[in-house]
Amino acid sequence: MAFRQPYVGGNWKMNLNRQRATELCRAVAESEHQQSGVDVAIFPAFVHLDAAGATLDLAKSDVALGAQDFYPAPDGAFTGEMSIAMLKDLGVQTVLVGHSERRHVIGEPDDLIAKKTAAALNAGLTCVLCVGETLEQRQAGDTDQINESQLRSALTDCQLTDTAKLVVAYEPVWAIGTGKTATPADAQTAHHKIRSVLADIFDSSTAGAIRVIYGGSVKPANAVELFSQSDIDGGLIGGAALDPSSFSDISNAARNAVRPQGATQL
Ligand code: PGA
Repeated sequence: MAFRQPYVGGNWKMNLNRQRATELCRAVAESEHQQSGVDVAIFPAFVHLDAAGATLDLAKSDVALGAQDFYPAPDGAFTGEMSIAMLKDLGVQTVLVGHSERRHVIGEPDDLIAKKTAAALNAGLTCVLCVGETLEQRQAGDTDQINESQLRSALTDCQLTDTAKLVVAYEPVWAIGTGKTATPADAQTAHHKIRSVLADIFDSSTAGAIRVIYGGSVKPANAVELFSQSDIDGGLIGGAALDPSSFSDISNAARNAVRPQGATQL
C-alpha cells in the first residue's frame, strides 16, 4: 500500500469575526508548529484570508492556507467572485471544491464543480474535492452510486500530475453539522469504493496514493477510530475546527492513528 500522509482540514465556513479568526489562526499555528506527520490546512472565510496568511507567516508555517471557494475564470465580469490568481496573491495553497453546502444550499451544479476541479489542479493548488450522499440517497441505497457519479463528473477530464494535489473528502450530507457520524466501518466501505472508482478513472497506483478523507461531525471522541481505518486518510472538520484544542486533538489523532498495512484490493 502506498504511504499516504494524513490530511486534516479545518473548514471555518461563514463563522468568526476578524479578531476571533486571527486568534484561532494563531492557536492552530502554535499547536501545529514543528509537528510533522500530518498535512494541516485551515479554510477561513474570504475576508479573513489576508489576516490569516499574515498570522500564519506562510513562509514558515506548518499550516496551509485554504479558501472555501473561487470562480474558475482568470478574470472578468463575475460580480462577487474571486479568481485563483487573487487567492494565490494572498498565499492560498489549497481550495475546497464541491462542498455539500455549495452543492445543496447554494445550488452549484456538477459542470461548475468539474471546471473548478480542473482549474484548481491546473493552477497547482491542492484541491479538496468533496463528494457525498444525502439522507434520502442513503436510504435508497444509492451511496456508492452518488459518490461515483460525483467523482466521475468532477475528475474525468482533469489532468493529475501530482497525486498529493488531489484530496477527496467523503462527506455524507446527513452527517455534516448534525452530530451524526457514519460508523467507522460504513465510512471505510464508502472510502474503499471511492478508491476503486479513482483506480478506474486514473489507475490503481494513482488511486493508492490519493488521500481520501472523511468529513461529517468528526470530533476528538470519534477521530481515532475513523482515522484508524485503512482507507481513511484524515478528515475535513467543520464545527470542531472552531475550537483550537479540539482541532489539535483531531490532528493528533490523524498523526497517531495506526492504519492496517498491506495492499488494498482495488
Ligand atoms: P462538521 O462539518 O464537522 O461540522 O460536520 C464538516 C464539513 O462541512 O466539512
